[in-house]
Amino acid sequence: MKSNSRHTIKLFTYAQLGIVALFIIVVLFSTIRLTELGKILADLTNSTIPKISYAASLNTQIQNLATLTSILASSQNSPAQQLARQTIDSSLVSINESMLNDATDRQYLPTQLATLTKEINELDGLVKQRIIFQRLLNDKKDALNTNLQRLFASIRLIENSNEIENMLVEVLLLSVKISEQNRLHEIRQIELALNSLTMKLKNKLVERKLDNTILIKPLERLLFGTEGLINQKVQSLRIDGRTRGRDNFVRNLIADVASNLQYQAYVMNKESMEDAKKVNELAAQYSKLTIISGVFAVFLTLGIIYYLHQRIVLRLVSLSSQVSVASKTPEAVINIDGNDEIARLADTFSLYLERVKEQESALLNMTLTDPLTGIPNRRAFERKLSETIELAMRNKWAVTVILIDVDYFKLYNDHYGHAGGDACLRLVASELNKTLLRQSDFCGRFGGEEFICILPNTGAEAANVICETLRYAIEELKIPHVKSTINDYVTISLGASTLTFNHNSDLTKEILILEADKALYQAKAQGRNRSCFSHFNSGNFSLK
Ligand code: GH3
Ligand code: MG
Ligand code: MG
Repeated sequence: MKSNSRHTIKLFTYAQLGIVALFIIVVLFSTIRLTELGKILADLTNSTIPKISYAASLNTQIQNLATLTSILASSQNSPAQQLARQTIDSSLVSINESMLNDATDRQYLPTQLATLTKEINELDGLVKQRIIFQRLLNDKKDALNTNLQRLFASIRLIENSNEIENMLVEVLLLSVKISEQNRLHEIRQIELALNSLTMKLKNKLVERKLDNTILIKPLERLLFGTEGLINQKVQSLRIDGRTRGRDNFVRNLIADVASNLQYQAYVMNKESMEDAKKVNELAAQYSKLTIISGVFAVFLTLGIIYYLHQRIVLRLVSLSSQVSVASKTPEAVINIDGNDEIARLADTFSLYLERVKEQESALLNMTLTDPLTGIPNRRAFERKLSETIELAMRNKWAVTVILIDVDYFKLYNDHYGHAGGDACLRLVASELNKTLLRQSDFCGRFGGEEFICILPNTGAEAANVICETLRYAIEELKIPHVKSTINDYVTISLGASTLTFNHNSDLTKEILILEADKALYQAKAQGRNRSCFSHFNSGNFSLK
């Protein structure tokens, strides 16, 4: 038996545990992968996508703010300015609220928004100032118009006032031009022209001996005074410029915030694209790994099944057929390689069959042995005789059968008792067996106090010698027999029949026994303690 320390049941258990472990690993691996995918997808749907949409909405609000500041900057009167301001304020409030609800980390945005609010406030202040200056300028224009009308009225009273009137018209036109002019150097040129015109006007009035102080001074004050039209216009232009500048600045600031938001949205978009790509890659990787681990699991399971088939099923099948053969064939042995439970089971079967065979042979022995004397019984004799005759027929041998009967045994029994008779029978049986020397010779108890011998390949002469040897051996035992009328000791009578097979014959063993019985009868009749013979051959013997 090969040395194999592996144990099949253990291996079977390990194989099962291995399959279970493999499936647990595959399931765990899949769960971990799915959880990872789930997390990324959840992050994508719960965080990134809302952030992107939030950034887009915030961007729209900021873009609106740019439009609103433009409206504010271009407001021409207080109601329009207030309305624009209110709209901007509510927009800022909503942007601030959105920012509070925003989960994104945008530290720069509140700072930018605070700066923007400050700048919008300043823009608003400038717009207010511009509106005030515009109003003052309009007031100044009105005052100038009134003054010029008054001057026209006064001048018309003077004779030949056409030239002066024309000059006044020119002043009126230039002052209108000033209020419409938006360039400072143009205003300065108009101012110079107005200056020379008013100088000429003054000179004309002096020529006409008119008091120019009353007529021209208010006009000069209205035109060139610290709060005159020109200065007001210049101031208004400055405020306008500052307002425009601030407006541009604010819009640049808004554009900055918007571009920051757009950049952030772009980054988030990119991140979400990367996340989606990652999800895709992970899903592909996961399905690939799942297929690989599934295929691996299938192959491993097939391997384990193949191994178990080879190691358990085939060996059990072999064991089963070996047991079946061994139970029918006495020489067959059970041989299963290995040192595991199946090999041990085979050993157990072997041992069991050996025992069964032993018991079988013991039983057979019992059925073929005479319990009193311990020598073969009549059944064993019948078997042996059949075998011997077959052998003799094949080999053309002679066969001798000797029937032996203890003389006056009834008397012996009566005198020495049944137990004494038994002891005598045992002694006779043992002595008869001892006396037959050939291995192939047979001696059994035929029944009662009769014994029978089979001597294969033994002719009449040899049979004669053997009969005498047997008879003499019993006599020499010197078993006292006080009731025997022929001897002091126990004696036997023998009847032998020898059959020579010189060709195939259907002669039966019964004839041999019958002939031996006849010979025995003769021996009894002739006075006992002797042997008689019947010799015949298969060629000339007939029952009749
Ligand atoms: P013969 O000389 O003519 O053979 O006379 P016999 O008395 O020997 O023959 P018989 O057939 O009259 O008696 C045989 C006796 O053997 C009868 C029986 O009591 C006895 N006997 C038979 N079998 C046994 C046995 O197993 N044990 C004992 N003790 N006696 C037995
Ligand atoms: Mg008898
Ligand atoms: Mg007898």
